[in-house]
Amino acid sequence: MQDPQPTASHFVNGAYLEDTAGTPIDVVYPATGAVIARVHAATPAVIDAALDAAVAGQKVWAAMTGTERGRILRRAADMMRDRNRALSELETLDTGKPMQETLVVDATSGADALEYFGGLAGSLTGEHIPLAGGDFVYTRRVPLGVCVGIGAWNYPTQIACWKGAPALACGNAMVFKPSETTPLCALKVAEILHEAGLPAGVYNVVQGMGEVGGALVTDPRVAKVSLTGSVPTGRKVYAAAAEGMKHVTMELGGKSPMLIFDDADLENAVSGAILGNFYSSGQVCSNGTRVFVQKGIKDAFLARLSERLAHVKIGDPMDETVSFGPMVSERQMRIVEGYVDAGLNEGARLVTGGKQLAREGFYLPPTVFADVTDDMSIAREEIFGPVMAVLDFDDEAEAIARANDTPFGLAAGVFTQDITRAHRVIAALEAGTGYINTYNLAPVEAPFGGTKASGVGRENSKLAIEHYSEMRSVYVAMNDVEAPY
Ligand code: NAD
Repeated sequence: MQDPQPTASHFVNGAYLEDTAGTPIDVVYPATGAVIARVHAATPAVIDAALDAAVAGQKVWAAMTGTERGRILRRAADMMRDRNRALSELETLDTGKPMQETLVVDATSGADALEYFGGLAGSLTGEHIPLAGGDFVYTRRVPLGVCVGIGAWNYPTQIACWKGAPALACGNAMVFKPSETTPLCALKVAEILHEAGLPAGVYNVVQGMGEVGGALVTDPRVAKVSLTGSVPTGRKVYAAAAEGMKHVTMELGGKSPMLIFDDADLENAVSGAILGNFYSSGQVCSNGTRVFVQKGIKDAFLARLSERLAHVKIGDPMDETVSFGPMVSERQMRIVEGYVDAGLNEGARLVTGGKQLAREGFYLPPTVFADVTDDMSIAREEIFGPVMAVLDFDDEAEAIARANDTPFGLAAGVFTQDITRAHRVIAALEAGTGYINTYNLAPVEAPFGGTKASGVGRENSKLAIEHYSEMRSVYVAMNDVEAPY
């Protein structure tokens, strides 16, 4: 297996860069608790160098044609696919997610983003607007300049690409700060992009905690900030960006509802609930953690769910037959345990799980609470761990009202065989990303993002282009200028 220790902590101006004066950050392998690598937080000098490199690199990059930019991004996508196994291993070492997942979801979804936005890069244009007397306006789509990306720890490769690919396609440069919990993968993304031909300074990675993120967000050289993180962090980052009148994309947390009606295909509904709660040990922002089950199907749902959960294979995430790994950190596991205690204290019925496994690493098994009521903290707050809350409901209107009674609005799902109900319900649910008879798929072709407190802006799809470029208009007069005097 590869040595996870990176060449240096940061990637700036086309090369690895170290500054050991920065606060050390230990990288802990969640499956064992062992320290497997160490990086250093960016010092003010490193932050400054990254931003200067981005300013200079962006000018070179924006002067290239979109087709040339796209070619480099698509080359990087191919390289990511060629190196999928090594990148997946690193993702597993960084996050603890099982190889069964990382081999098919992380570098591959990052490559999809590079390929998709690489494909769009040559077609990003403005328009011609005809006016009276032959006058016209044309618009120019221009990059924003230097964009800052700040990542969460659950999908470090994917987040680095989901932000980088559209930003770079539009001709911006990026300074990306990974989560301090998972600092390794973004460095590989930077390395591959530069190997594929990216000019120096166009994609930089700097490590650090919230202070480093804060320093980037407030810097006047920065035009745009894209954060993936929690709602409290989003509020701070959005406010700091507003002070500098910067563009933002906010991909934040959720407490998404999944509505399972009596007529649902039971097997599909159970599969959706499993994927939407226990994939990546429950550490997925769009998870449908409030599972509203209509009373007529509740017993069958819980029975089948328990049977299916008995087949989960918990263990060493490097073993490709393992389907459920550890949580990302001891800290996150303790937070989730706190919610399990809260669920028990508030009177929810624990169906399965709830206790840390007696083995090394941060393992908390799939946990299901039934008889959950809307007021319980496990039904109101984002847990970000493998805890499913099952709530009962009688009718459609009631389920919709209860599902929407949350400050969050990231995702929502409905399972029913009734086609009109499916569309009616999903339209009524307040969520940026909806699912009918499936859950948690996020193809690059489709917009992804939240409404209400769950975020601002959209990642993926053609819409992301709007968030990494702006239109400038030029009025062209074909006639004499008429002035009143
Ligand atoms: P977090 O909010 O603690 O941290 C996110 C990032 O912000 C980290 O890189 C952190 O260092 C940085 N940060 C913290 N304070 C900052 C500040 N004041 N200024 C600038 N940067 C700052 O989130 P986390 O614990 O890493 O990730 C889990 C959260 O992310 C969950 O709420 C989850 O729902 C959310 N998430 C959302 C999406 C999405 O696409 N909507 C995807 C993954 C995770």
